[in-house]
Amino acid sequence: MNPEINYFDPNVLKAEADLLLKLQERKNGGLGVSCVKTIAAYLQLERFDTARQVRQLEGDKTRQYEDIENELRRFFGCRIHGKHDCQDWICQTKTYYPPMPKR
Ligand SMILES: [Zn+2]
Repeated sequence: MNPEINYFDPNVLKAEADLLLKLQERKNGGLGVSCVKTIAAYLQLERFDTARQVRQLEGDKTRQYEDIENELRRFFGCRIHGKHDCQDWICQTKTYYPPMPKR
């Protein structure tokens, strides 16, 4: 966990939920990103641990969105280990995967 974030402050969790909702709303042709909405919903309910579990289980659906992925990393840490200073090679690789070009 990020030592600069107070995960026990409901206002911090709600502010993060608002930020994530804003980041995802125009993605996916305006439909948004469902797992990000789920993460935000748990943060609004102050269920940080559940929000973190969704982030870890569904994080492969966010890595194509660079801004969302960066924000999730800042808040929750790396997807696989939940660490902010992760040295694992798999978390050191580039995190942003652009979508496949459409023909
Ligand atoms: Zn890691």
